[in-house]
Amino acid sequence: MAIENQQEDTMKISVLASGSTGNVTYIETPKRKILVDAGLSGKKIAGLMKSIGRDLNNVDSLLVTHEHSDHCKGVGVLARKYHLNVYANEGTWDAMAHKIGKIPTEQKHLFGMGKTMSFDDLDVESFGVSHDAVAPQFYQVHHNGHSFVILTDTGYVSENVEGIIQNADGYLLECNHDVEMLRMGGYPWPLKQRILSDRGHLSNDDGATALMDILGRNTKKIYLGHLSQDNNVKELAHLTVASSMKQHDFGVGHDFNLFDTDPDKATKLTVI
Ligand SMILES: [Zn+2]
Ligand SMILES: [Zn+2]
Repeated sequence: MAIENQQEDTMKISVLASGSTGNVTYIETPKRKILVDAGLSGKKIAGLMKSIGRDLNNVDSLLVTHEHSDHCKGVGVLARKYHLNVYANEGTWDAMAHKIGKIPTEQKHLFGMGKTMSFDDLDVESFGVSHDAVAPQFYQVHHNGHSFVILTDTGYVSENVEGIIQNADGYLLECNHDVEMLRMGGYPWPLKQRILSDRGHLSNDDGATALMDILGRNTKKIYLGHLSQDNNVKELAHLTVASSMKQHDFGVGHDFNLFDTDPDKATKLTVI
């Protein structure tokens, strides 16, 4: 019947995996199916796609944020096996070259920092962040008046970035660690310093503060992501962000919802 065939003009997303062990996000519009990052093995990503009823054979493009393994581990395999077009900025291409193996030249594309590119009915905007990689950039995607922001792996959120990502419909935002767990935990001091620095990762408190600065009337769905395996717990991240926002009179649970992510389980494919 006609109605069944009529596809709604919406953007859907699933955070396939998020955490210090690997990151992949799936985004689809009626015309495009893309991934942002491929930080797990090709096999695992294929399995996660299957778990949301989707197939890697239908994905056309892969956007890479930076060269850390938890973001690019599967890039080479996916590009070769599924013939994906891969996008990254020049610094990231250079830095990840030795990690991903050979990719046919025609599948390698530049996505400059601060640029916007159109993929049919999906516009993608990149923005640079403060993180200890060569040229880390994250992405805001726009479709039919709605937008979704992916922002993990940043030591802080600058006013410039806040301006770019204001009032999106959805966010995947980093809540990497609980500061006390990190301080008291077994990591060597230089690594602790790295994580806590301006070029490291956002803590649960940092994530809450950033969210309160950027969300707006359009914001309905917030995914808490990139949790450290060692220095965070899902419930703690959720509680820290929720209580901090409630204290500041934000409508957690009615104006917008907070969702958890997992390192090895996809979030439900959801309209943004
Ligand atoms: Zn990462
Ligand atoms: Zn990183």
